[in-house]
Amino acid sequence: MKAAQFNKPHDLQVVERRLRALSGDEVLVQIAACGVCGTDVHIFAGEAHARPPVILGHEFAGTIIEAGNQVRELRAGDRVAVDPNIACGGCYYCRRGQVNFCENLRALGVDIDGGFAEFTITPAKQCYKLPEDFALEFGAFAEPLSCCLRGLERAAIQPGQSVAIVGAGNIGLLMLQLARLAGAGLIFVLDPLESKRAIATQLVVDFVLDASHPQAVQEIAERTHGGCDVVIECAGKAEAAELALALTKRGSRVVLFGLAAPAAYARLYLQTAFLKELTILSSILNPFTFHRAVDLLAQGKINLAPFSLNRFVLEKIGDALESTRRSAAVKTLVIPD
Ligand SMILES: [Zn+2]
Ligand SMILES: [Zn+2]
Repeated sequence: MKAAQFNKPHDLQVVERRLRALSGDEVLVQIAACGVCGTDVHIFAGEAHARPPVILGHEFAGTIIEAGNQVRELRAGDRVAVDPNIACGGCYYCRRGQVNFCENLRALGVDIDGGFAEFTITPAKQCYKLPEDFALEFGAFAEPLSCCLRGLERAAIQPGQSVAIVGAGNIGLLMLQLARLAGAGLIFVLDPLESKRAIATQLVVDFVLDASHPQAVQEIAERTHGGCDVVIECAGKAEAAELALALTKRGSRVVLFGLAAPAAYARLYLQTAFLKELTILSSILNPFTFHRAVDLLAQGKINLAPFSLNRFVLEKIGDALESTRRSAAVKTLVIPD
């Protein structure tokens, strides 16, 4: 089968790979679509962890071709989304129920072979069934949505609270819909790109503002008694984090959700943070949230229709990464066939 193998930073090749035999608790999945994540861009640039040589791609869905002889819940023909994060269950953190901090975490598409391929082998326990009539390429949104659900838990939005979402890429557009489902009052979305703002306006959001415009902070402050109750940074950039902090008032919660480059740092006015009694949080991975992500998608509770999608065949993986790096679309997908 064909697969995109990461060898070292700036070296990602489409290669021919042979599939190994299945273990009893594994399934063979034919991949229908695999999303390209900002994390993949960071891995390619040598700015985020991976264990090469490895097939990248951790946001995928497909159809089960074969199930190992110990697999009870799934069979050939089932359509599934795959949770790529495999916790060990035995380390210090796993035994405290904090599986997203697992010290021996192996992630499909990062540490072991993932979804930029025609097929992949995964433990059956990582698979979540999708309805038969579900458009499989939308299954690639289950993983990012599951991570957003963790971010939402951290944000702890109370019904009626004002929420600002900084960044209207895939994550921001998912997060704003979750904030709405959580009962947020006024929702503000900020992005410097006109194309992203145009998509945000098609979702249920109160104000969409230009993040690069100095008036944006002032306008939000005027409508929220000085700032939002909850601010969620969804861009993974220093300027977005600083903007998020500028959108707070006394008692606000800030979730720094986006994955930034290792050298990125943001300035924090310490006295302001003190005076406002800010709660500053981050969010990593998707502990026990994948099931709800799949349910929300299957039930049509997340509107993906306005999302602009760039689709690439496997051979064009380099272009797919570049499309993601340039934020050319809300989401870039690799469609193996
Ligand atoms: Zn991702
Ligand atoms: Zn562990």
